[in-house]
Amino acid sequence: MTALPEADPPFRAPRWSVLPAPQAVRVFMQPLPQPAWGDWNEALAPALGLPALPTPQWLHRLSGQATAPPWCSAYAGHQFGVWAGVLGDGRAHTLGCLHTEQGPQEIQLKGAGLTPFSRMGDGRAVLRSSVREYLCSEALAGLGIPTTRALALVRSPLPVQRETRETAAIVTRVAPSFIRFGHFEHLSHHGHRDALQQLFSLVLEDFFPTCAAQAQPALAMLHQVIERTARLMAYWQCVGFCHGVMNTDNMSILGLTLDYGPFGFLEAYDARHLCNHSDRGGRYAYDQQPLMGWWNCGALASALQPLIRDEQAIENALERFEPLYERNLLEGFRAKLGWQSAQEEDALLIQQLLALMQRDGVDFTGFFRALSAQEPGLHRAARLHAPAWVGVDSKDPDWDRWLRAYGRRSAQEPSHPEQQREAMLRVNPKYVLRNHLAQEVIEAAQGGDFRALHQLRQVLQHPFEEHPAWDHWAQPAAPGSPRLCVSCSS
Ligand code: AMP
Ligand code: MG
Repeated sequence: MTALPEADPPFRAPRWSVLPAPQAVRVFMQPLPQPAWGDWNEALAPALGLPALPTPQWLHRLSGQATAPPWCSAYAGHQFGVWAGVLGDGRAHTLGCLHTEQGPQEIQLKGAGLTPFSRMGDGRAVLRSSVREYLCSEALAGLGIPTTRALALVRSPLPVQRETRETAAIVTRVAPSFIRFGHFEHLSHHGHRDALQQLFSLVLEDFFPTCAAQAQPALAMLHQVIERTARLMAYWQCVGFCHGVMNTDNMSILGLTLDYGPFGFLEAYDARHLCNHSDRGGRYAYDQQPLMGWWNCGALASALQPLIRDEQAIENALERFEPLYERNLLEGFRAKLGWQSAQEEDALLIQQLLALMQRDGVDFTGFFRALSAQEPGLHRAARLHAPAWVGVDSKDPDWDRWLRAYGRRSAQEPSHPEQQREAMLRVNPKYVLRNHLAQEVIEAAQGGDFRALHQLRQVLQHPFEEHPAWDHWAQPAAPGSPRLCVSCSS
């Protein structure tokens, strides 16, 4: 192993590393052989106090070379509604924390080798799934949705066996914390009362300081996690993001989007859309996500029960999820439609719109962008000038009726039509990570060409802006292209 200079800036141990083993364990990584850059996120690095340009030192460090063992943690979880026992960082190592203006940021490598929690896995991540996680983390960040970030992608010729033989990669993830609902479930399930209290206190102090002053801090924190989760679900629905594996081990205590696997964005609108082909029962279909978010909060609440010990208060907290979610969703869709004020009829108009989109398989992102991009005042002319691929025939009587109703409703807005248009362009992205784009970039990367990855990442970091050279990335796959299958395998 090459001798490394001291990390600059230095990593500090994550606060949770004080938890007793096996809750926190130190374990060396298995560095990737012949590492090379896949991408370095120059838009994120300076915020972490790191150089904007990649350096050989960081390539070594982010390929798993270290002079001191990093940390892994145990967690548990409910997978597809079933208790899964001990899981944990099976292929994730926390190098440490960097102190930034936004507070401490944990730096974690995914795919740097075996850990005590690897179970049957190999501790590796393939290039294909690493490119997907790397791009989608930055796409959600670009959309303004709470998420873990991706700092870098390191590739290697190391072969990894999945359905076929692939090669290995490491994504460096960044978040204030990677603590999951499952961390609390693990300690609670095994009756580790002291460790549960200790983890709770650390998380409370660092991330929910206002709750500490409350009469019942654990209950106050549960309320905040419910609020954040309900808000996150509304954000996802508003951009058509489908996570695919909303198991409680993939739910962030901070309300961040976490663990990108078989995710997908809605294209032709279908409320029942399933992005994960392993999810036969449709548990995590697009329209089930809010319900599953609530269910997961219930699992967290049970785990926190020993700290709250008030069944009624827990029930009351969980009951707030639905109205909070509904309010956020309605606000989100109003903004998408350019409405700042609230009117009685709004919910019905949104419902009618989604029914039409469902009937005609209208492209979700394309529709809202086309509606936003209309010349101001045209709303009232009841014609939508959308490209054919969006899938709206505005001469169809039902669309004509809806567009006229939309025009009448929009005319009641106090803001100038031009302001309405600008506000809509700021919330309706032109670019989302469509599966075929990820696939295009993955195939180039597998052939050793990372230019498209770099370019697409930059476009996705600014999804509300126009990128004329990349206009075609705003569109669905060409008709007749093969349908891509995404599952849990990674
Ligand atoms: P996921 O379905 O990716 O959320 O993973 C569920 C659990 O399996 C987590 O504990 C992961 O760390 C672990 N895991 C997934 N893939 C691997 C792998 N290739 N090697 C070791 N552990 C893995
Ligand atoms: Mg996971």
